[in-house]
Amino acid sequence: MPLLPYRSYVLISREQIARNYRSVRAAAGRNVGVMGVVKADAYGHGAVEVARILAAEGAAWLAVSSVPEGVALRHAGIQAHILVMTGFLPYEWQNMVTFSLTPAVHSLSDVAELNRMARDSGRTVDYHLKIDSGMHRMGTRASAAEIIGVLRSTTHANLDGLMTHFASAADFTSSQTEEQSAYFARIVEELRQAGITPAHIHLSSTNALAYQRNPAWLTMVRPGHALYGYVSPTRGEAPKPVLDVKPVLTWRAKIMTVKDVPEGALVGYGGSYRAPQAMRVAVIAAGYADGVPHRLSNRGKVIAAGRLTPILGTVCMDLTTIDISHASALGPGDEVTLLGHEGDAHLDAQQIARIAGTISYNILCGIGARVERVFV
Ligand SMILES: *Cc1c(COP(=O)(O)O)cnc(C)c1O
Repeated sequence: MPLLPYRSYVLISREQIARNYRSVRAAAGRNVGVMGVVKADAYGHGAVEVARILAAEGAAWLAVSSVPEGVALRHAGIQAHILVMTGFLPYEWQNMVTFSLTPAVHSLSDVAELNRMARDSGRTVDYHLKIDSGMHRMGTRASAAEIIGVLRSTTHANLDGLMTHFASAADFTSSQTEEQSAYFARIVEELRQAGITPAHIHLSSTNALAYQRNPAWLTMVRPGHALYGYVSPTRGEAPKPVLDVKPVLTWRAKIMTVKDVPEGALVGYGGSYRAPQAMRVAVIAAGYADGVPHRLSNRGKVIAAGRLTPILGTVCMDLTTIDISHASALGPGDEVTLLGHEGDAHLDAQQIARIAGTISYNILCGIGARVERVFV
């Protein structure tokens, strides 16, 4: 692999993103659409590039978190439908309609408000109604009768989709997913009996799809994590995931300096590491400002010269110190791997997350803006 002129960078495989997308599509089945979730800069991978890859694979829908994220995709020329999953605030209205973004709407009063804004501007606006089926985060808890009542009175807001979100799809010790599915199914059915059949019905993100919790009647799935190569670990007795996805990202950093320290030397802030013997350490150009969790201090590992090696002392803002006693050939300008494969060693976001006491999503989204994204 050629060395790139960046102190810290991630390499992202276009081909692996496309493969992951195809695996999702195969698992979703023939008549089910795949909405690619590219919120939070595509979980740190770069939303514009990822959106282009998904669009080239035929994705008709993308999902972002906010209006500005949707606008950024439109500025880059992305033409797919874009669902704004957290909806919009009144001051975002203009950008939402100008850039043809589709909001998720989370309450019946917001449906009425959307209808009023659309009518006043002389247009019709599509939206997806989010049902809170039991996660108690976003979405309406209104009954089907109440929803039908409001839909009957809307003239300029068009119900294009109905959605909900699972709280515990990877947890097979809990009945929450079945309860949420049943709640949502009841609303979909009551709306259908009232003659309301939105074009899109979607509830499954990565885990529900991977562990086959998606009911037969949905029309679209909504994965993010899987596109980036991950499926969450399960609790309880779970089936094997049906997705064949792999991480797409490799994170590397340059060594800035190397030194030999004597037995008893204290390394880094607070002297929290004491060398048990003479050793060679390297200082690498990535710290917590780049997304190396501070919690990896004296706990985490990186790969140097093809071997896992410990982080020594505290992770600093811009720098991290590691043990390279096994790799005397390494010097300034050489690279180590923070996430990915090198030789026989590998580290993925789930392994790092476990050590840092967090989740893989947090590791991926935490990779800092100054870490160059390089697509290969
Ligand atoms: C983030 C998100 C998704 C994607 O979830 P993954 O677990 O990454 O597949 C789907 N739907 C909603 C509402 C989300 O917030």
